[in-house]
Amino acid sequence: MTLPIWKKLIALVEIDNQMSSLDEQVNKIKKQVAEDLAKLNSFERGLNSKKAELKDKLKGSDFVELKLQEVDSKEVEKKKNLDSVKDQKSYEALQRELSILNQDRQVHEELLVKAWNEIEFLEKKIKFDITAFEERKKNFEESFVSLKQQEDVLTNKQKELLEKRAEKEKEILPQWLSRYNQMKQKVANPIVKIANASCSACFYMLLPQDNAKILKGEILPCRNCYRLLYFDAQEAEEPVF
Ligand SMILES: [Zn+2]
Repeated sequence: MTLPIWKKLIALVEIDNQMSSLDEQVNKIKKQVAEDLAKLNSFERGLNSKKAELKDKLKGSDFVELKLQEVDSKEVEKKKNLDSVKDQKSYEALQRELSILNQDRQVHEELLVKAWNEIEFLEKKIKFDITAFEERKKNFEESFVSLKQQEDVLTNKQKELLEKRAEKEKEILPQWLSRYNQMKQKVANPIVKIANASCSACFYMLLPQDNAKILKGEILPCRNCYRLLYFDAQEAEEPVF
C-alpha cells in the first residue's frame, strides 16, 4: 500500500526539520571555533606588541647608556685638562663645562633608571602573558579537537539524512516536490492539517469544494498562505480528550 501524498510530504518535513536543526548545531560549533580562535589571536597580537615595545625600550636604554659613556669620557678629559690649565679664566670655563656635563649625566642616569624600571615591569608582564598564552592555546586546541569530533558526528548525520531524503523524494511526484520545496523556503511548516474547515496555520476558511476534496484525501494549497493542506482521517477518528 502506498502512503497518501501528504504522509510522504510530512516525512520530508520531518527530515528537513532534523536537517535544519543539524545545520544550526554545525553553525554553532563553527561560530564557537571562530570566536575562540579570534580571542586567541587577539591575545597573541597583544603579547607581540608588548614584545615589540620591550625591544624599543631596550634599544632606548642602550642609547641612554651610550650617552652616559660619552659624558663620562668627556668628564675624564675635562678633569685632566683641569690639572694642566694655567689661567683662572680657562679654569673657570672648564669648571662650567664640567658642571654642565654633570647635569647632563644626572638627567641621563634618571632616564636610565626609569627605562630599567619600565623594562623590568614589561619583562614580567610578557613572561606572565607567555604562560597565559600557552595555557589558552592548549585549551583552544583541546576544545577544537572535541568540537571537530562533534562536528564530524553531525556531518555524518547530515549525509545520512540527505540520502534518506533522496529516497523519499523518489516516491513523490515532481510537481508536489517542487511546490513543497518552494514553500519550504518561505515557511518552516509547508504542509499543515485542516481544522474546522480552515487552514490550521493561518485559519483561513476553506471553500466547501476545497474542504470536500481535502476530506477525501487530496492535498490543496491554502488560498491565503499557500501552505499545503491535508486531512488525517485516522487522527480525526481518534477521540480527543
Ligand atoms: Zn493558510
